[in-house]
Amino acid sequence: MRGRNRARRPVVLSGLFGALLAVALVGFVSLGTGLAQPGEREPGVEGSPEGRPGGGKAKNVILLIGDGMGESEITIARNYEKGAAGRLALDALPLTGDYTTYAVQEDDPSKPDYVPDSAATGTAWATGEKTSNGRISTTPGTDRDLKTILELAQEAGYKTGDVSTAELTDATPAVLAAQVRDRSCQGPQNMAECPQDRKSNGGPGSIAEQEVDEGVDVLLGAGRLRFEQVIDGGPDSGKTVIQSAERQGYRVIGTAQELEMARSGQKLLGLFNAGNMSLEWTGQPAAPEPGTGPQRCQEGRRPDNEPSLAQMTQKSIELLEQRPGKGKAKGRPGFFLQVEGASIDKRDHAFNPCEQIGENVAFDEAVKVALDYQKKNPETLVIVTGDHAHTSQIIPTDATSPGKVSTLITADEAEMKVNYGTEKGIQTHTGSQIRVAAQGPILNYS
Ligand SMILES: [Zn+2]
Repeated sequence: MRGRNRARRPVVLSGLFGALLAVALVGFVSLGTGLAQPGEREPGVEGSPEGRPGGGKAKNVILLIGDGMGESEITIARNYEKGAAGRLALDALPLTGDYTTYAVQEDDPSKPDYVPDSAATGTAWATGEKTSNGRISTTPGTDRDLKTILELAQEAGYKTGDVSTAELTDATPAVLAAQVRDRSCQGPQNMAECPQDRKSNGGPGSIAEQEVDEGVDVLLGAGRLRFEQVIDGGPDSGKTVIQSAERQGYRVIGTAQELEMARSGQKLLGLFNAGNMSLEWTGQPAAPEPGTGPQRCQEGRRPDNEPSLAQMTQKSIELLEQRPGKGKAKGRPGFFLQVEGASIDKRDHAFNPCEQIGENVAFDEAVKVALDYQKKNPETLVIVTGDHAHTSQIIPTDATSPGKVSTLITADEAEMKVNYGTEKGIQTHTGSQIRVAAQGPILNYS
């Protein structure tokens, strides 16, 4: 970690923020992870009401994940939106460190797979265990189920929320509330890679079924077509996943207007698009030299009937918040909420800088919602990170790239050349370590 609570042990820690979450939720004191030990803290920091890092125990945890948001993606978004010397909301968090994201090999988990996917990295942050690419909270080779941080939170009485701009059955939201062998097993009719998990075979079902059966209080995102598929076994055999959700007490909604009207008291499943949610911005994709641009991005492309990630975050907090009361309500725990900006990754794959930046800026607005809540509720821990690095790079404007390039005109009124060169067609993830940042009560000295 860089910053006030500087650790003396190495800074690159696999599962670092899984450990932070464990500290926050379960109150473990000694994890041996390189977190500062008693006596290392600066005087006067403990219990700071401004939400600076300090002692105490987090009541609420908001974990925000920019999918594919490496330092390169953050820098490109900052340069375009705020200028090179500007600051995004996510730059304001006082504790910053890095963590490695490598996966392990399915056939020999003692060997790393240097470039991970969101299923393997998600399994790592959600369960504290590395796995192989494609797996959803299951062990490499042996296919054992791994317990997730959301499940631990539920057992401890916390309310839980899982939010994404992707299909809710995509890897990042899936790892918290489902265990399957392969990430493709998203709906009851998508089980080709996970026959043993089918409900008709006595298994727990697809990712969509497991998310609903798990009883996550707030599920907001997209992927309606997965939830319209028919269940093939168990008590809801013959029903769709949406009908099963309704039977299990969910209110199911499909528009931003319905989200605005939602009130607490009922579990909520929001499915705002048939596939992934619509993009915020658009622009020309990168192309072989001389590339596209110089261009400015076209903003405001998301239709009004789909909520923004910031709106979903705001509403989730409102629905999950457990205000301290008197008597029975007094000792109530708080909430655990995951918020994913999913299409930073997806538009990076598609070598489209404007679409990638628009999603990163929208993610940053969700971060701002979380930080604003944290200021008023200092017992809230906000963690902002990515899940793996990605392809986009800033290169000199006079470089001649063998990949695909686009030149953007930034907030500085300067030209920024963005290069995509990790593959011939659709671009790939990369294997670099990435940023993890936090604000709120992080270290429990008690
Ligand atoms: Zn990806």
